[in-house]
Amino acid sequence: MYTAREYVLPKTLEEAYQLNQKKQNRIIAGNMWLRFSSGSFGQLIDLSDLGLNTIRQTETEFIIGAMVPLRELEKHPELNAYTGNAIRDCVQDIVGTQFRNSATIGGSIWGRFGFSDILTCFLAMDTEVELFPSGRMTLADFTAQKPDNDILVNIILKKTGLKTAYRAFRYTATGFPVISCCVSKGDFWRIAIGARPAKAMLHILPDTAVLSSAEDTALKELLDKTIFGTNSTASADYRRHLAQVMIIRAAASLEV
Ligand SMILES: Cc1cc2nc3c(=O)[nH]c(=O)nc-3n(C[C@H](O)[C@H](O)[C@H](O)COP(=O)(O)OP(=O)(O)OC[C@H]3O[C@@H](n4cnc5c(N)ncnc54)[C@H](O)[C@@H]3O)c2cc1C
Repeated sequence: MYTAREYVLPKTLEEAYQLNQKKQNRIIAGNMWLRFSSGSFGQLIDLSDLGLNTIRQTETEFIIGAMVPLRELEKHPELNAYTGNAIRDCVQDIVGTQFRNSATIGGSIWGRFGFSDILTCFLAMDTEVELFPSGRMTLADFTAQKPDNDILVNIILKKTGLKTAYRAFRYTATGFPVISCCVSKGDFWRIAIGARPAKAMLHILPDTAVLSSAEDTALKELLDKTIFGTNSTASADYRRHLAQVMIIRAAASLEV
């Protein structure tokens, strides 16, 4: 558990950003992960007053505020209609309903956690992040970057007509995923594999690639390029096998 000297609610992004430049200060979102930190912080910067808890849409994109709780993603009719329920599927097994009422998409994406269902899912879709003050970049670029002192403002899901399916394997209903896979199809296949146990990795393949059986060359090559690791939960070989099954199932579900 951590301690903090002061709790602040900035009224503008500029104010939040300035406070976040001090090494001892921390942004607090749902506090579900942060609460496991130890040590003492200076100021806790709560983003709750910045209006980042809404999901808006335009003709071309969904704009999801960083402070939107996971439960809101799970229940959002239009987001789930657009993603073929992939968003609901990636969120619904995370801990429990009360937990998902507090944990936010911003905390999940910012953390770039190796086990993240959410990062895996959004990476396979056409997603950008909006940072203050750096502006927009693709989620893939953001994931590759080391965390800095910007503020994650919005997660932007582009309406590019992708069909998407999410699959993960867990030993227990609400435990961490042993492997997570998200497959999207549009002009290309976009395939993200997470919980390897490292953070999600994105592969882009031509839409002509066949991913229907373990014998398919495209699938074998994709799995060969993916780095799977061994930890106390599962071996690298087992994770590779699970990923193969999940990708085949997810891809098949998009063809019906
Ligand atoms: C027991 C447990 C089990 C979990 N299981 C899963 C799981 O199975 N699958 C899964 O995908 N996830 C899982 N998670 C992660 C969870 O879903 C959230 O991602 C996590 O709790 C962080 O969200 P939060 O809103 O609580 O962020 P916080 O804990 O408040 O913050 C997390 C970090 O992000 C920073 N941060 C937060 N928001 C911003 C922002 N807008 N800009 C800049 N920095 C920011 C904070 O400073 C902090 O460093 C689990 C977490 C816990 C604690």
